[in-house]
Amino acid sequence: MVDVPKTADIVIVGGGVHGASLAYHFARKKAGRIVLIEKKFIASGPTGRSTALVRRFYAMDFFTRTASAAAEMFRHWKDVVGGDGDPGFQQVGMLVLAGPDTAPYLRHNALRARELGAGVALLSPAEVKALVPAARVDDVALASYEAESGYADPSSTANALVNRARDLGATIIQYRRVDAIRIAGSRVIGVGSGPTGCCARSASRCRSRRHATRCASSAGRAGSARTRRWPTWSR
Ligand SMILES: Cc1cc2nc3c(=O)[nH]c(=O)nc-3n(C[C@H](O)[C@H](O)[C@H](O)COP(=O)(O)OP(=O)(O)OC[C@H]3O[C@@H](n4cnc5c(N)ncnc54)[C@H](O)[C@@H]3O)c2cc1C
Repeated sequence: MVDVPKTADIVIVGGGVHGASLAYHFARKKAGRIVLIEKKFIASGPTGRSTALVRRFYAMDFFTRTASAAAEMFRHWKDVVGGDGDPGFQQVGMLVLAGPDTAPYLRHNALRARELGAGVALLSPAEVKALVPAARVDDVALASYEAESGYADPSSTANALVNRARDLGATIIQYRRVDAIRIAGSRVIGVGSGPTGCCARSASRCRSRRHATRCASSAGRAGSARTRRWPTWSR
């Protein structure tokens, strides 16, 4: 059982792939004392049940940029992330097929994605048939093809990131629920967690006595548990 630290620079709530990724990136940047708190186990939520596609473009620029960058990370995991973890990336390629009604949108999105640097080609129905001989293409007007895309194991991905974050000094706590976020003005000053919650100030200022027994976090900047200076707290 991992001890819950009394203070932290950064508290991450939830060990889905986003929390795992944050923990890894903050730890790699040596951003301070990092604590990730997950109420069950890593990837126990939607992450562990995801469709698992790793692809490079969407209809919005932001998603195309982030998906492309993430897909490159999957392709070069050992070099970029390191550690023993393996997200199980399989570069099988990805085809999106469009009929006559949706083909103009697919063309527009794929061309825009190419402008943003995403590796995507547009294929005619005959080219799709050449790539996948078993495919029926009589109702296909256009396809996009991402040769370097594929799928990965989302649970392994989150665990690989969390394990790497731990290697780099982050504290990972499972089976503990964050049940209170204490704020002062626009600042987060404490995080209450689990059956033995905590607070960043004195117990007498805690809403609930049971939150005052232990502390998982400390003072922070607006909007997150990122801290700048340490609070003191006492029972
Ligand atoms: C390799 C990969 C491929 C993917 N492919 C697709 C795809 O093809 N299509 C698609 O739609 N999506 C895909 N996704 C995205 C996926 O479906 C989810 O949307 C995504 O994983 C959600 O991650 P999350 O961290 O935001 O949330 P979650 O997975 O929901 O994680 C949140 C975590 O927070 C914990 N938690 C909640 N409340 C508390 C609390 N109070 N205290 C402590 N812990 C708490 C939960 O237990 C949970 O584990 C993919 C993801 C991966 C990793």
